[in-house]
Amino acid sequence: MSGIMFKRVALIGIGLIGSSISHAIRRAGLAGEIVGSSSTAATREKAVELGLVSRAYETAAEAVKDADLVVLCTPIGAYGKIAEEIRPHLKPGAIVTDVGSVKASVVRDIVPHIPEGVHFIAGHPIAGTEQSGPEAGFAELFDGRWCILTPEPEADRLAVARLEDFWRKLGSQVEIMTPEHHDMVLAITSHVPHLIAFNIVNTAAHLERVTDSEVIKFSAGGFRDFTRIAASDPVMWRDVFLNNKDAVLEMLGRFSEDLVTLQRAIRFGDGETLERLFTAARAVRRGVIQAGQDTNDPDFGRRGKTDKAS
Ligand code: NAP
Repeated sequence: MSGIMFKRVALIGIGLIGSSISHAIRRAGLAGEIVGSSSTAATREKAVELGLVSRAYETAAEAVKDADLVVLCTPIGAYGKIAEEIRPHLKPGAIVTDVGSVKASVVRDIVPHIPEGVHFIAGHPIAGTEQSGPEAGFAELFDGRWCILTPEPEADRLAVARLEDFWRKLGSQVEIMTPEHHDMVLAITSHVPHLIAFNIVNTAAHLERVTDSEVIKFSAGGFRDFTRIAASDPVMWRDVFLNNKDAVLEMLGRFSEDLVTLQRAIRFGDGETLERLFTAARAVRRGVIQAGQDTNDPDFGRRGKTDKAS
C-alpha cells in the first residue's frame, strides 16, 4: 500500500489507546503489519479476534522484534521494566514512542534503556474516554485532538518529523514541547480535574444523611459528569499521580487558594465576586468550543436524552 509508513508496528499493551491506534493505523493504511503484546491471554485473544493485531505475543520482547515503530501503551508505571525487557530486541533504526499521560518521568525511565541507533521520542495523545481494554478503541479517537511530542534536544530530526507525520495521519494535530512543560500543562488540564472527580464522587459516597440511591437518582444535577471522569482506570491514574507529583501539588495549591476565595464569597454573601468568577469560567468554556475541543450541543452532546444537567 502506498501510504505505508512502517512495515511493522508493535503495540505494547492493547487497551483503549493501543486499540484506537490500531484502528486509526488501519483506517489510514499506515502499516504493513500490526503486532502487539499483552500478558493476559483474554486480551491477546480479543485483540486478534477484533483484527487489532495480526499476532499477539505474551511478552513485549517478542513483539518488538523487527518492528520499525514500537508504541508503549501500558500504564506508565510499567514502562521502565518494559524498556529494560525490549532493549536487546529492538531493531536498529526503529522509533520507540509511548502514549503516557506524564512525560518527564517517562523520559527518565525509558531513555537509559534505548540502545544506540534506536530513536526514542516520548508522546501523549490528548484524547481518551473512561473506557478500558481492547474493545474500547475506535479509529476516530484522535481526530482533531492534539498529540504532544516531547523529544530530547538531541533527538534525530528525521525520526521526530516521521512521528509527527504519523500522528497527523492518525487524525491529530501535533505540538512539540519539553516534558516538564507538558507535565505542568496536563496537571491543570487533566490530572487535577480527574483528582477532583475522584474526590467528589467519594465524598458523595461517604455522605450519611443523603443516601447512595439519592446521589444516583438526582445525579443529573451535575454529579454524573464527575462520575464519568471518575470511572477511568484506577491503575493508570495511580501511576499518573505517582509520576507527576510536583506539578500536581503546585496546581492543587493554586486550586485550593481559589476555592477558599469562593468559600469566603459564599460565607459573606458576596454575590458580586461569585458572579464575576462564574462569568470568567463560562468564557473558558466558549474558548474550548471555539478551539474545536468540544461541541456546543446541549447537555454535553448526550444523544437521545432530554434531561439536562443543571
Ligand atoms: P487500558 O485500556 O487499561 O489498557 C492498558 C493496557 O496495558 C492493557 O493491554 C493491559 O494489559 C496493559 N498493562 C496493564 N498493566 C501492565 C503491566 N504492568 N505490564 C504490561 N502491560 C500492562 O489503558 P489505556 O487507557 O489504553 O492507557 C494506556 C496508556 O495511555 C497509559 O499510559 C495512559 O497514561 C495513556 N493515556 C490514556 C488515556 C485515557 O484516556 N485512557 C489518554 C491518553 C493517554 P491487560 O489487557 O493484559 O490487562
